[in-house]
Amino acid sequence: MIASELDLLTPHVYWLPPKKETCRPALGAISGQQSLLMVDAGNSPVHASAFLEGLHRCILPVPSYLFLTHWRWDHVFGSSIVEALLVASNHTGDHLRETARLDWRDKALDQRVEDNLEMDFYRNCLKAEMSNVERGRIKLRLPDIAFSQSMDIVLENITCRLIALGDEQTAEASFLYVPEDAVVFLGESLGGSLSSARHFTTPERFTRMLDKILEVPAELFVDSHRSKPLSRIDLEKEVAVIKEIAKAARAGQGNRTAAVSQLKQNLGASSLPQNTDFYLDVFLGGMRQAAGE
Ligand SMILES: [Zn+2]
Repeated sequence: MIASELDLLTPHVYWLPPKKETCRPALGAISGQQSLLMVDAGNSPVHASAFLEGLHRCILPVPSYLFLTHWRWDHVFGSSIVEALLVASNHTGDHLRETARLDWRDKALDQRVEDNLEMDFYRNCLKAEMSNVERGRIKLRLPDIAFSQSMDIVLENITCRLIALGDEQTAEASFLYVPEDAVVFLGESLGGSLSSARHFTTPERFTRMLDKILEVPAELFVDSHRSKPLSRIDLEKEVAVIKEIAKAARAGQGNRTAAVSQLKQNLGASSLPQNTDFYLDVFLGGMRQAAGE
């Protein structure tokens, strides 16, 4: 498969699948009759231009809108070459302003890893994706249109519903729902081992967020770092497991060993589900933060 080849997911929705090696997230295109919305800007200008080339090959319009699911580097570093109105939540906009002030060249990046502000894995991805000089030239665009809870962008015959997750304090990300095609682009809302940052949240907050995602009657869910979209049934199964982990973290009152044995008991299983460690880290860390420790 060539780097810029887009796949058709549903009649109006295309995607460029993610690439693990340099942490390229999935990019999406929602195509109306004449206008198009691009989902996420990619982790470098080269990544974004592969996507634009893919649109050209499929004889699709150039993007009129660029929607950012969130502000992490791997989703926004390609934005400078996309000539479209940039749309993001207020929360994403605030974080983009901070991200834009950072120096991404070797010395500053290595220091942030040393200070535990960036993860080693993502530093390596970033260095493999862009040279030191290219990282010195990174220009981040800020939103042209920002929303607080949700907004609809209508592309002639297709609706792009942008929905922020969480409340004003906790909103970490937003997702895109296309009702006509029953598709959702989740960004990194599910977390997972490929999330581009350490992230803590409480079991209650995360559970509310998962419920908000499942409220939309979509059938296909695209996660930024997974090689295949999830069916509704797959997502429901996964959410049920995450909720069990959240329940066990609460029952363990912040104690990892107690949470693990509670989880085994609840599931009636001797082995733990995949990603248990990741979600326990997220929840136990979130509970510590909430308790002000
Ligand atoms: Zn990502």
